[in-house]
Amino acid sequence: MQIHGYAAFQAKECLRPFSYTVSDLKPFEVIIQVSHCGICRTDLHMIENAWNRSTYPLVPGHEIVGVVVQKGQLSRLAVGERVAVGWVYSSCLECSECLQENTNICQYKTSIYNRGRYGGFADFVVADSRFCFQLPKQMESVHAAPLLCAGATVFAPFINYQIQANQSVAVIGIGGLGHLALQFSRSFGCETSAISSTEEKQREAKEFGASSFYTYENPPSAMQFHYILCTVDVELDWNLVLSWLKPNGVLCLVSRPKTFHFDPAMIVSTQRSISGSNNANRFLVQEMLLFAGRFQIRPKVEEMPLSEVNTALERLKNNQARYRIVLKI
Ligand SMILES: [Zn+2]
Ligand SMILES: [Zn+2]
Repeated sequence: MQIHGYAAFQAKECLRPFSYTVSDLKPFEVIIQVSHCGICRTDLHMIENAWNRSTYPLVPGHEIVGVVVQKGQLSRLAVGERVAVGWVYSSCLECSECLQENTNICQYKTSIYNRGRYGGFADFVVADSRFCFQLPKQMESVHAAPLLCAGATVFAPFINYQIQANQSVAVIGIGGLGHLALQFSRSFGCETSAISSTEEKQREAKEFGASSFYTYENPPSAMQFHYILCTVDVELDWNLVLSWLKPNGVLCLVSRPKTFHFDPAMIVSTQRSISGSNNANRFLVQEMLLFAGRFQIRPKVEEMPLSEVNTALERLKNNQARYRIVLKI
């Protein structure tokens, strides 16, 4: 089977048409006809080889929704079934992390694209059915796509840190991840605050679920939050950010700022923690989709055709996406 998509042939290049052939499927593999694929900042980093691990030609795309058209002999999915796939193609399923269903931090996991695999900026994609997810019937595919990476990433900390409805949560950065984090936080019943670099996002942040809105010129007060979820990768005054946490509070990074300097005095006497969270394990991705369906959590999307993928990437690079761009294939 011939698959047609868009690939970067070298670091930092515009994407160009690319095709490849798939012959035999492995027992758990399926071929999915892609209908929608979200664009995530990770795709930009991979195109640019920002982490020195990109292989070319590189077909990005890891927020994929489509329909199964072909299946290997052991796949439990049915031909014709609508499914979704995220960043993880597969994990080893044997290491101690996998045995605890921490598939998202398996050190042997492979990604849906790179190193001989090709992602969702294409008419079809090959996936491992054990890492495909079912979607609530009423959820539109265009809204489901961004949940696979952005949604899963901001949902997992609520479960892993057992954040409760009587606690206060602040979200730093109101973009692709942040605008979903506000919706999840409100749905969990938490007192929800948005922290942005610009006043411009105030009205929409409140629509997404924030009851309070802050900027760095108009910051929160000290010891205000139980949890701060940071979704931006810019350099912040981390001592100031830590000061906003209550004692025992947690600053959780789902982004990767280049450097992170802080004064240990900000965490020792107050027992504050700084942590990281990487997407979500398979169980939590599926739970997140059900939760989003139940609470009608919807990304705000700009839909663009695959043929305009380079314009779409440019918009994301310039922080113009509101709030997630989804390619219609
Ligand atoms: Zn493993
Ligand atoms: Zn992503």
